[in-house]
Amino acid sequence: MNLLDGKVASAVWKYTMAEEVKAMVSKGQRPPHLCAILVGNNGASETYVASKVKNCAEVGFESSLIRFEDTITEAELLQKIKEINQDDSIDGLIVQLPLPPRISVQKVTEAISPSKDVDGFHPINSGRMLQNLPCYIPATPYGILLMLEHFKINTTGKSCAIIGRSNIVGMPMSVLMALNNEPGNCTVTLCHSRTKDLGSVTSKSDIIIAALGKPYFLKADMVREGAIVIDVGITRVPSDKTKSGFKLAGDVDFDNVAPKCSWISPVPGGVGLMTIIGLLKNTLRAAKKEISF
Ligand code: NAD
Repeated sequence: MNLLDGKVASAVWKYTMAEEVKAMVSKGQRPPHLCAILVGNNGASETYVASKVKNCAEVGFESSLIRFEDTITEAELLQKIKEINQDDSIDGLIVQLPLPPRISVQKVTEAISPSKDVDGFHPINSGRMLQNLPCYIPATPYGILLMLEHFKINTTGKSCAIIGRSNIVGMPMSVLMALNNEPGNCTVTLCHSRTKDLGSVTSKSDIIIAALGKPYFLKADMVREGAIVIDVGITRVPSDKTKSGFKLAGDVDFDNVAPKCSWISPVPGGVGLMTIIGLLKNTLRAAKKEISF
C-alpha cells in the first residue's frame, strides 16, 4: 500500500508556485492577489478563510479579507462583488459559504466575474469544464487531479466510482475523470444516495473517490484488491484520544481498507491539503491571465 500523502504533494506544489511568484516579482510584476469575502461569524468559515490567507502568504501571494456582519443585504454584497470585479489589483475572488439564508448563493456565484472565479463555481466555468475548455476547476476536484499528477498515477482506461454528486466535489469530479485528459480518461460511475447496491459498483472499480460525508462508510468488502482509494470526507467525530474530544474522520474505513489498496489517501493529511493547492493554482492562473473569457 502506498500513501497518497497530501503533506508531501502539497509541499511540492507550494514550492513550485512560490518559485513562480518569485520569478514574476523579479520581472517587476505584482504577486497574485486573492480576495476573500466572509459574511457573519461562522466558526468553521473563519477557520477555512484564515487557512486560505495563511497559505497565500506561504507562497508569496497577496490576500485581502473583507468581512461583513450577517446583517448585510444581498444588494450590498452584490455591489461589493461588482467593485472587486473591476479592481485590476485583485486576481481571484471567493465568497466563503455558507451565506445567511436571505442571500441567494446562486446570485452571488453568478455575480463574480468568471475571470476571477477561482472557486470555479460560476456556470460559465462549469460549462467550459464540461466541454474540456480552459476554465477554473472547483478547488477540491482540482486538488485531487494535482495529487494524482504528483504521484504519477495513470488513470487512463481505468474504472472509477465516485460516491457523492455535490456541485463542489462529486459532480465535477465525475466530469473530470471522464474527460479525454490524463488524469481522466476513466469509465466513471457516479454513485449517490439513491444508488442501489453501491458495494457491487465500488468493488469492481479500479479507482474509488468517496465524497459523501459519512464517516468510515467505505468498508474493506466494498473495495477490490489493488484499488486506488481517495477519501474526500471530513467529519468531526467524538474521540477520547484528543484534548478537544473530537477528531477528523474520512468516508473510508482506512485501517481495514488500506491493506487492500495500491494507493490510498489519509484523513487528515490527504485531500484537505490538496484543496488549498487547487485554490492557489487557480489564483496563480488568474494572475497570469492564462484563460481568456
Ligand atoms: P454533500 O452533502 O453536498 O453531498 C453528499 C453527497 O453524498 C450527495 O450527493 C449524496 O447523494 C451522497 N450520499 C449521501 N449519503 C450517501 C450514501 N449512503 N450512499 C451514497 N451516496 C450518498 O457533501 P459535499 O459537500 O460533497 O462533501 C462531502 C464530504 O466531503 C463531506 O464530509 C465534506 O466535509 C467533505 N469535503 C471535504 C473537502 C476537502 O477539502 N477535503 C472539500 C469539500 C467537502
